[in-house]
Amino acid sequence: MTKYAFKPHDPVSLPIAGTDERFPVRRIYCIGKNYADHVVEMGGDATRSEPIFFTKAAETIVQSGADIPFPPNTSDLHYEVELVVAIGPDDINGGIFGYGVGIDLTRRDLQSVAKSKGGPWDRAKSFHRSAPCSAVTPAENVNLDGARIVLRKNGDLVQASPLANMIWNVEEIIERLREDMDLQAGDLIYTGTPAGVGPVRVGDELSGGVESLERITVRFV
Ligand code: MN
Repeated sequence: MTKYAFKPHDPVSLPIAGTDERFPVRRIYCIGKNYADHVVEMGGDATRSEPIFFTKAAETIVQSGADIPFPPNTSDLHYEVELVVAIGPDDINGGIFGYGVGIDLTRRDLQSVAKSKGGPWDRAKSFHRSAPCSAVTPAENVNLDGARIVLRKNGDLVQASPLANMIWNVEEIIERLREDMDLQAGDLIYTGTPAGVGPVRVGDELSGGVESLERITVRFV
């Protein structure tokens, strides 16, 4: 048995809908610029832009129902609701274990500085508690045909889009990640956000959903 110098952190995991088992999280891959209307709202040219990859640490996961202390060093914290793909072993459902709904929390002010300086996005994207995610619904219980992704802030609809508007669909994203990175069971993929991103403040509640999936609801305190 390995002797650690101090107690390792417990593995990060998410509930799996309908069971008492949990989904052990390995890496979090994120896709940026995957909906044309979001590319445009961020000042980009959707006809010339390609989706991009970045990552968040697994430890940034927040379970649905949590209160999130407002993060430090930002006056422009933004929500981005996203379909999340949960990768499993290759022999289950072709490697797609299930799906969830996530919120890619972004310190937009820090991201703008990073973009202007050509610097990394870690402080903007991979800060503590920056990846709220719903319970994972096993793929056999999911039907995304014609499904829409929506986000409500304090009950008001702020983001809504057919999932079909994704520039790279789920299969294309997985194919590209498999070619380029090391995609393994336990990996989560945040697949990008549609238009309507905006700020959150202390006291706000966010609630995101996709038909046939568990909801993500968090509150900022
Ligand atoms: Mn995003």
